[in-house]
Amino acid sequence: MVTMTARSTSRPAPASAGATVTILGATGSIGTSTVDLISRNRSRYQVEAVTAGSNAVALAKLARDLGARFAAVADANAYHALKDALGGSGIAAGAGETALVEAAQRSADWVMAAISGATGLRPTLAALERGATIALANKECLVCAGGLFMRRAAAVGATVLPVDSEHNALFQAMGAGRREDVRRVILTASGGPFRTWDREAIAAATPAQALRHPNWSMGPKVTIDSATLMNKGLELIEAHHLFALPSEQIDVLVHPQSVVHGLVEFCDGSVVAQLGAPDMRIPIAHCLAWPERINGPAPRLDLVQVATLTFEAPDTGRFPALALARQALEAGEAATTILNAANEVAVAAFLDGRLSFGGISALVAATLERSEGLARELNSAEDALAVDHDTRLMAGYLLPEIAAKAS
Ligand code: NAD
Ligand code: MG
Repeated sequence: MVTMTARSTSRPAPASAGATVTILGATGSIGTSTVDLISRNRSRYQVEAVTAGSNAVALAKLARDLGARFAAVADANAYHALKDALGGSGIAAGAGETALVEAAQRSADWVMAAISGATGLRPTLAALERGATIALANKECLVCAGGLFMRRAAAVGATVLPVDSEHNALFQAMGAGRREDVRRVILTASGGPFRTWDREAIAAATPAQALRHPNWSMGPKVTIDSATLMNKGLELIEAHHLFALPSEQIDVLVHPQSVVHGLVEFCDGSVVAQLGAPDMRIPIAHCLAWPERINGPAPRLDLVQVATLTFEAPDTGRFPALALARQALEAGEAATTILNAANEVAVAAFLDGRLSFGGISALVAATLERSEGLARELNSAEDALAVDHDTRLMAGYLLPEIAAKAS
């Protein structure tokens, strides 16, 4: 498997001055941070395409502000609203899944993949297939089809740059040595809002409580995943694919201050880490300008003010999602696709008030238990999305029973 470091040294600068960029998921949390950086560096980047789920008005405003050539909404019903809002601008409008894929296929050197969930897989793969540099925020796409994704990246010579702060930290720290001299990597986790809560209180937590992340401001799905620690489980799988490391070489450490984002331990005992304020514009800026650097607007890290950095082992008793993700990683390719799909169903049900917080990992566990063919390799997007689809049906079927038990 191709490793980040091998590819990062063998590719030319993708997004230096004059680069063309596309933002998939431009209206979200990562998308907005990306837009902020591009707006501050207008002479450096030309925007080709921007996409959103359904907010046509917000998307049209972004497209106009950035001088994009094409804007696409996933929701086919939002086409007329988008077209109207773009009236007179000369910016082309599209809607539906094919329009998202078209946005990804249009020629841009650099593509921010910041759609949330496995729904981002097709457009992200479409950008990858034409050899673009992918700034990958959408971790679900690696959890759903990571083997396939990295095999296709290697086959077409596409560069995948990790936006997720922990993986971006590992990518930066890996530059300090040779890939074969890496002994293990450590992903840090804030521990989320329930880090100090007991099991019963966690099980009964409300959406409002779970959406209150102590350090990071993010979209709802990843915020809930951070509260269950499933986010760290998904990141474990993400790290496995990005850096071609087996499960036993990837550790997780709870670090409530979110200052040290990731650490790489080399064979001589040296540990190299990347630090920074918890602001996603730091890893996004790194990917945007890579292999150069651009000035970033994020707050500077003031270690005197932070004063104390603490670390603790994750408690998989209170946060079973992390253990489930590791089991899925070790079980095989289809297992992580199932884990991801079941988790997406569970998080949506929790946010809708149909499942308790404790029910999220219970539903994921039950769905994994009832599924077959966990070790299966997935060789196409259709394959991965078929497993994703079947799992959603299974999780939907199990939901009432788990919700009743876990309430
Ligand atoms: P978000 O919910 O804020 O934004 C998601 C974007 O995708 C929006 O533009 C939305 O309009 C679009 N979208 C929603 N549904 C869609 C659909 N069905 N089809 C097409 N587009 C759709 O999410 P976010 O927090 O920006 O996260 C994006 C991705 O980045 C996620 O995979 C997340 O795990 C990852 N990530 C986020 C952060 C963060 O700080 N927010 C950090 C690390 C990784
Ligand atoms: Mg992260």
